[in-house]
Order: sequence, then C-alpha cells, then structure tokens
Amino acid sequence: MTFRTRFAPSPTGPLHLGHAYSAIIAHDMARANGGKFLLRMEDTDLQRSKPEYDAQIIDDLTWLGLTWDGPILRQSTQIDSYTPAIDKLAAADLLYPCSCSRKDIQAAQSAPQEDALPAVYPGTCKTRSMSTRQTGDALRLHLDRALDTFGPDLPNFIETGPSHEGTHPIRRSVATEQIGDIVLFRKSDAIVAYFLASALDDHSQAITHVVRGEDLFGFTPIQVLLLTLLGLPTPLYHHHTLIRDEAGKRLAKRDDARALSKFRAEGYTPADIREMVGLDG
Ligand code: GLU
Repeated sequence: MTFRTRFAPSPTGPLHLGHAYSAIIAHDMARANGGKFLLRMEDTDLQRSKPEYDAQIIDDLTWLGLTWDGPILRQSTQIDSYTPAIDKLAAADLLYPCSCSRKDIQAAQSAPQEDALPAVYPGTCKTRSMSTRQTGDALRLHLDRALDTFGPDLPNFIETGPSHEGTHPIRRSVATEQIGDIVLFRKSDAIVAYFLASALDDHSQAITHVVRGEDLFGFTPIQVLLLTLLGLPTPLYHHHTLIRDEAGKRLAKRDDARALSKFRAEGYTPADIREMVGLDG
C-alpha cells in the first residue's frame, strides 16, 4: 500500500507557523515513505473562503519547498460529488431536516461548550421526517439511528500520532454526549458540512494516512462513523502535537503576527521556519 497523505487547509486566512508545521510533517512523512503528498483546499465555506488566501497558501507552501502530487483538489469545484453520500444517508433514514438557527440552538443549550466540536444539538427538529423538508432546511444526522445500525460493536479507528497512539473504539456514550446530531448539509449555502466533505475526499483522494493537528482529533470519531455508514474504508490517523505561542496558546489563523508571510517579509528562510517549529533539515 503506497503511503498517501494530504494537507487540507481551509483558505479562510493566511497560513501561520502551525500550518507550516502541519504541512511539513505530512509532506516529509510522505517523502520518507516513498509515498504521495496531496493538497486539498477545503473551501466549502463560501462566505469565508477567499481566492487570495488560496493563492497565498500555494505561494507559501512553494516557498517552504514543499511539492505536492497531482492537481490541487478544490472542494468548491465538486460540490455535486457529495450529493450521493447525502442521498445514501437519507435513503437509510439517517437524516432529518432542521430549520433551527444558530441562535435557536445556542438558546437551547444550558451551558456554552468550549471545545472545538460544535455544541451538541438539543434535538428540537429530531422528530421531523425527510418528507417535511423545506427549501432552506439543514440536514442533520440522526445519531441514535446511525449508531443502532452497528449493533453492539461500533467502529474503531487506528491512531499513530504521539499523544493518542493505538486503537480507539468509538463509544456510544461519547458519541451521544460529544457529537450528537451534527449538521451534514448546511442551509446557508446548501453545501455539505466540513466533517462529511473532508472524510469523503480522504476517500476520493485514496488517503491512507490522515496527518493533521491534534486539535482535530475529536473530529475523528464522527468522520469514521460517517465513512463506515457509507460503506467506505477508513484511513489511519496521525494527529501531531500543536505549535503554541510563548503563553502556551494555540496559534490561530487570525493570529496575523504569526502569519508565514510576515516571517517571509522579514527575511526568514524556509530553513529558519523549520528550525522555529522544531523540524530541522
Ligand atoms: N480544513 C481543516 C482546517 O484547515 C483541516 C481538515 C483536516 O486536515 O482534516 O482546519
């Protein structure tokens, strides 16, 4: 099996050191394994994705000396490719339409969630069937019914990264308390949600190893569930540790002070960047 991994930035902001670290790790793992490194622009957020960020990402990665195999996959150019997955989940009676706004959902939460995962949906529209779907409704996964399809044994996934190495069985209680009925199809722009598009493209790009930051580890059970529900194989996952600032805070994309372009403008070299993120060579 040829090792195939990817870097999958969302072009909603400039690349910062944390992205550079992630891209270099994935790239170097692919090259060290005689494998392939693919580039995917996760630009399904039509409001926040910008062509100038897309162009800047390519420029920054090229400047870093990274090369990728094959054409860049831009999710916005193949929205229709996600429809069969939605249709399949709907045909299996695993989706329901939802007209709640973000505000409705927040109002129904007892406490705000601090975690990176979206807040668990309180279930206001859960009893609706697909036959009541209106234009403009979102579509949610009916998690209970989805979990029931597996019987007592939920899928596992294999993690090779340093902090969570091993086999991870998905637990029903964790899925219900931390994942819940996630949106798979957004009403704002009629596009499938990140979890689904990203997992489907890991499959369409034949990714064998998903290499990405530890902040996304919590998304893995959802993606594994979705792929398995769709009858698709799951890749191996490798979540690397994150680059933090002096105060221990994770670098965010809007943290412009750390944008790679700033370092470039100040005369840093790609070797300096590798050294700064602790990857010499
Ligand atoms: N597009 C996601 C991001 O920029 C990464 C998704 C992934 O690597 O699975 O945070």
